[in-house]
Amino acid sequence: MLKRSRKKKPAWKHFNIIGKNEGSHTHVQCKYCSKSYQRAVPGRMQAHLDKYCKDAPNNAKSQSRQQNATLTIDKFSDSVNDEQQRSFEISLVKALTSTQTDSSFVDDPYVIELFRLLRSSFKLPNGEEIKSQMNGNEQLEFSSGFEYRQQQ
Ligand SMILES: [Zn+2]
Repeated sequence: MLKRSRKKKPAWKHFNIIGKNEGSHTHVQCKYCSKSYQRAVPGRMQAHLDKYCKDAPNNAKSQSRQQNATLTIDKFSDSVNDEQQRSFEISLVKALTSTQTDSSFVDDPYVIELFRLLRSSFKLPNGEEIKSQMNGNEQLEFSSGFEYRQQQ
C-alpha cells in the first residue's frame, strides 16, 4: 500500500463528514453552505471554498497559497528602522562627499527612482538635507585634524 501523508488537506476542516458512501467515498458537506459532495475531493472542496462558497471565511480559502503569498510579500516588503535609515544616510553622505558629488544628486528623479528600487523603505533625503549632513560630516571629519574652513 502506498504511504500517503496523514495530514489532510486544509479544505477538510471546512467540511463536515456526513458519511461514507459505497466504495468508501466520503460524503461531505460545506460547513458554510449547503453544498455537499458525494465524493470528497480536496481539490474540488478547496475550489468551492475559494470561488463558489459565498459564506466561507477567509481562513477557509486556499490557506497554503495565501500563506505563501504572505511570506513572499513579507520577504520583499522592505522595512528600514531608524538606525538603518541613519546609517544609509551616513553612507550616502560619505559617498557624495568622497566623489565630490553635489547634494542635488538626490533630487534627480532617476536617482530617487534608483533608491526606491533598491530600498523602497529608505527615505531618501532631499538635496537640502543632504547638504546640511555633508556639511556636518565635513566638520566632523576635519574638525579634529586639520584646521578646516568651510568654503561657503
Ligand atoms: Zn460552501
